Amino acid sequence: MELSTPLQSFPGIGPAKAKALARLGLHTAGDLLTYWPRAYEDRTKTYPIAQAPAEEPVCVSVLVAETPTSSYIRKGLTITRCKVVDGSGSATAVFFNQDYVRQALRVGESYILYGRVEVSGGRRQMTNPIFEREDRARFTGRIMPVYPLTAGISNNLLAGLALQCVEGCAQLLPEELPAGVRQEHALCAMEYACRNLHFPTDQEALAIARRRAVFEELFTLSCGMAFLRKRRGEMAGRVFPPGSVEEFRPLLPFPPTGAQRRAMEALRDDLISGRAMNRLIQGDVGSGKTAVAAFAVWLAHAGGFQSAMMAPTEILARQHYETLSGLLSPAGIRVGLLTGSLKAAEKRAVHAALTAGEIDLAVGTHALLSEGVTYRELGLVITDEQHRFGVGQRSALSAKAAQPPHVLVMSATPIPRTLALLIYGDLDVTVIDELPPGRTPVETYLVGEDKRARMYNFVRKQVSQGRQVYMICPAVEEGESDGMKAVTAYAKELAETVFPDLRVAFVHGKLKSRDKEAVMAAFGAGEVDVLVSTTVVEVGVDVPNANLMVIENADRFGLSQLHQLRGRVGRGQWQSYCVLISDNRTQETRERLRYFCQTNDGFKIAEKDLELRGPGDFFGQRQHGLPVMKAADLAGDTRVLKEAQEAAEALLRDDPTLSTPRNRPVLEKIRRLFAEDGDIFN
Ligand code: ADP
Ligand code: MG
Repeated sequence: MELSTPLQSFPGIGPAKAKALARLGLHTAGDLLTYWPRAYEDRTKTYPIAQAPAEEPVCVSVLVAETPTSSYIRKGLTITRCKVVDGSGSATAVFFNQDYVRQALRVGESYILYGRVEVSGGRRQMTNPIFEREDRARFTGRIMPVYPLTAGISNNLLAGLALQCVEGCAQLLPEELPAGVRQEHALCAMEYACRNLHFPTDQEALAIARRRAVFEELFTLSCGMAFLRKRRGEMAGRVFPPGSVEEFRPLLPFPPTGAQRRAMEALRDDLISGRAMNRLIQGDVGSGKTAVAAFAVWLAHAGGFQSAMMAPTEILARQHYETLSGLLSPAGIRVGLLTGSLKAAEKRAVHAALTAGEIDLAVGTHALLSEGVTYRELGLVITDEQHRFGVGQRSALSAKAAQPPHVLVMSATPIPRTLALLIYGDLDVTVIDELPPGRTPVETYLVGEDKRARMYNFVRKQVSQGRQVYMICPAVEEGESDGMKAVTAYAKELAETVFPDLRVAFVHGKLKSRDKEAVMAAFGAGEVDVLVSTTVVEVGVDVPNANLMVIENADRFGLSQLHQLRGRVGRGQWQSYCVLISDNRTQETRERLRYFCQTNDGFKIAEKDLELRGPGDFFGQRQHGLPVMKAADLAGDTRVLKEAQEAAEALLRDDPTLSTPRNRPVLEKIRRLFAEDGDIFN
C-alpha cells in the first residue's frame, strides 16, 4: 500500500462510498492517515459477566450457549435473543431489528461483546451490544476512534479503513517537522503519532500523539502568520505626505481622544515610513475607530491615492458610507458605496468612477472584491471588524492595487493575548483604550417576565423624551426554536397591542438588502421609535439618539455578543440603559448575566465568556478568519500554542525564507494549510 493508494481500491468501497468519502476530503490512504478522530470511546475495560458494573459499557468475553432466536413483535419490530456464558455466569444479549444476528452468532464460538450489562430480577441482559469474534476482534478491547462523519459513511467503515491504512502505510508518512524542533520540544515521531491518534494503545500514548499533532498544526500556523508579517514588513510602501492630526482636526465634529490621537500618529508614521503599513486598531465598541480610519483616508487622498474600506455587512457599509461622506466631503474627498444589492447599472457606474479615479474612497462589502472592480491608484485598504474576514480576503482586496497598499484593520473583538498574537500575528497592533468623554456607562439590568409591564413603560418613557429603542430577539420566525421571542411576531404584537401609538419597525438578516437599508435609514433618521431586530444590528451600527437596548431571552446570547449589542447604545449624550429579559434560573446563567450587569469592560467580559462558556462561542463559525484546525483547539491548547509560537519564531530567525532543504516541508505545509485562502504565499 502507498500513501497515494485510492480509497476506492479498498474492499467494500464502490463509487458511491468513494464519493461520500471525497466529501470529507478523503481520496487516498494518505488522506485518511491524517484524518484525525474527533473523540475516542474507551472499550478497554473487560469484566467477567457477573462482575460487570451496570453503569458503563464494558467488554465481556463470552461463549454463545444457544442458537439465537428471533421473534416478530409487530410491524417494524423484531427481537433477537441469544444466551451467552462465561466462567462467572450468563447473560442474554438482546438485539432489536438486527435479524442478521441469528446467522452471525454461532453456538460454541467465542465472542467479545461490548455494551452495558444490566441486571433486572437477578437476570443479566445486554441490549444491542457490539460483538466480534474473539479471534478477529478489531473494535473491542481497545480505545476506539470516533471520526467526523458524513451521510453514507459510518464510524465503523472509517475505523476499518483507518486500521488498514495504519497497518499498510503509517510508516511511509513523511516526517515534516524539522528534527531540531522535534528534539527541542520532545515531540514523538510522525509514525507513532499517527498510529496512536487512530488506535491509541492507552491514554498516555494518546496524549503524546495528540501533543505532537497539535504542536505541528499550531507551529505551521504560527510560521505562516510570522512569515506573512515578515514579508509584509519588507514590502516597500507608498510614501504619503506627512499631514498632521492638527490639520485634520477641523474635519471632526469633536476633539479626538488621547487614544485616538495616538492611533492616528501611529498610522501617520507608518504611512510616511516607506514600508507598507499593516496595522490593527483594536478598540472597544464606541471607542471611535471610524474617525481614525477617516484620518488615514484623508492622508491617502492628500498623497493622490484612493482608499477602499470593506465592512462585513451591508448595514455597516452603508453607515460607514454616510459617516465618512459627512466627515470627508468638506475636504473634497469623493466617497462611493459598493454593495451586492446595488442594481447592475449602479454598480457599473461605481466601477467606472473608481477606474477613472473619480471616487477617492470606496466603501463596501465583499462586492469590493469582485472582478469588475479596478482602481486608478489604490493606496490604502481598510477592513472593519476584521475577525469576520479571512486572511485571504484581506489579501484579495490588497491585490487590487498595482503596488502593495497600506493595510489598516479595525476590530472591536477583545481577544485574550496569546490568541491575539496568533490571529493578528501578521499585523502591528495599536489599542484604543479610552472612550470619548462624557460617556456615562450604560446601566444594565436583569429582569424576569414579571417585570415586563414595567419594561414596556420604561420604553414608552424613553420614547416620550425623544429617544429611540432597540428590542433584540434571538429568532426571526416563530417556531424556529421553542420559547424564543421571534422578530416578526413580536414586532406585530408590539405595534398592534403594546405600542399602537409608537412607530415600530423590524429588521432581520433574512430581509432583502433594500428593505434592511430602508429600515435602518429610517431608524437613523429618527423616523422609527422602536426597532425590533435580531443580532444584525450587533456590529457597528451607530445611532447616537438610541439610548435603550432591550434584549429578550438574554440567556441565549454569549457575553461577548451581549457586549456588542449593548455597544449600540451609550453613543450619545444621554444616559443609556440595557435591559436583559430572562427567566432562566440556572446558576451558571444567573452568574453570567449578573457579571454582565456589573461590568462595561469588553476585555474582562471576553475573558469571563471564555472561562464560563469555553471557546465555542468565541470561535464558532470560524469568526477569527484563520484556517481550520484539525487537531488543535485554539482556545484550549494555549500552552502548546505558546511553545509553537516560540519555536516558529526561532526557526524563522534561523531561516527567514524557509528555503533550506530541511525546512522545505514546513513551507509546503504552510501552503497547504492556507490553501483555502488562495495562493498567498507566492
Ligand atoms: P467604534 O467603531 O469604535 O465602535 P465609532 O467610530 O462608531 O466607534 O464611534 C462611536 C461614536 O462616538 C460615534 O457616534 C462617534 O461620532 C463618536 N465619537 C468618536 N470619537 C469621538 C470623540 N473623540 N469625541 C466625541 N465623540 C466621539
Ligand atoms: Mg465601528
